[in-house]
Amino acid sequence: MFDPPKSKVAISSCSSYDPAILQKKIAQTFELIGGLDKFIKPGMKVLLKPNLLSAKEPMRAITTHPEIVAATAREVRNLGAEVIVGDSPGGAKRGVRRVWENTGMLAMAEREKIELVNFEAGGVVKMSIHDHHYFLAKPAVEADFIINLPKLKTHVLTLMTGAVKNMFGLIPGFRKGVYHKEAPKPEEFAHIIVDILSLRPPHLTLMDAILTMEGDGPSSGNPRWVNLLMASTDPVAIDAIAATIIGLNPERVPTTRLASEAGLGLGWPEAVEIVGEKLSEVRIHDFKLTSNRKLELIPSTLSRLLGHYVWVRPAIEDDTCTRCNVCVNSCPTGALQSSNDSKAPFFNYKVCINCWCCHELCPSRAVFVDQSWLARKFIR
Ligand code: SF4
Ligand code: SF4
Repeated sequence: MFDPPKSKVAISSCSSYDPAILQKKIAQTFELIGGLDKFIKPGMKVLLKPNLLSAKEPMRAITTHPEIVAATAREVRNLGAEVIVGDSPGGAKRGVRRVWENTGMLAMAEREKIELVNFEAGGVVKMSIHDHHYFLAKPAVEADFIINLPKLKTHVLTLMTGAVKNMFGLIPGFRKGVYHKEAPKPEEFAHIIVDILSLRPPHLTLMDAILTMEGDGPSSGNPRWVNLLMASTDPVAIDAIAATIIGLNPERVPTTRLASEAGLGLGWPEAVEIVGEKLSEVRIHDFKLTSNRKLELIPSTLSRLLGHYVWVRPAIEDDTCTRCNVCVNSCPTGALQSSNDSKAPFFNYKVCINCWCCHELCPSRAVFVDQSWLARKFIR
């Protein structure tokens, strides 16, 4: 009987960002999927694509740890290839350099003599799929090889963020907000991400699942040690396995399900060959998922009937808010407006599309997931 080929996902235990330990563990993890030399050839230009969501220090678990980038870069350079590092951070208006500095990327890049590429200034390439046009960062399109370096985190819009969602960072600047506006629902937004993935899929993914984020990620949750590194050529399979590890059904993660349906990888764990650690031994049974995750389980007819009574929406903690207006400037619909009387920005919920950009980009964790009394009863 014909046995279709399986995607391979390597899982290695690693509980430290110590450079020497990490170097060894990353080399071993790549070895489990056949060795980096199978993919990287001398003279190639290799883009390392971390998650640099916002200007926060590495141990907040919002961004890929810089030592993951450094160790991967060394492995690539040892094979005679050239390395560049790039991403388009959220809220890039406040300056990409600030993000590089605060995430530890700048110090790491200076130490390792690696070029950091500013996607906001490097030009774009127009690419089309399903009659939809996308503008992707030119350095990402022109690189010979992309190594995707996502951070494993929960996500209030897409339940989790990993390899597939990390490719949204190939879209520079304000256009990210435009796509959020065009596709406000999780499923619609996941379609956009899957389009981007199909236009420029990474050749290889190494997931930073050492210090992850649980709760209301991708920026307002809490750091959680999972102590794993994962690698695969299949970004969908690696997300499916990561979801399983943190207690999420991969079929419920829209980016995984839609990418799998689009034939971009294998989104069901049974179809994946796991090498290294055993899946049953690394699963976390008390990982905290997002607080709004069960709302989608309410039947749509009931949800329409109870619309005024069952809601989940962003709100601002006045005491924590620093009035920086990052949320106001990031809101794609103008639903957030600054206050004239030194109060926190206020919402016009009539035009709020629940894209959660304000929650994702608030540097002070002042935006929280607010729920009506009835919603709390449903999604407890
Ligand atoms: S809610 Fe956050 S992003 Fe918005 S003004 Fe306050 S601190 Fe800044
Ligand atoms: S208020 Fe927040 S969730 Fe609502 S549309 Fe604006 S950024 Fe999105």
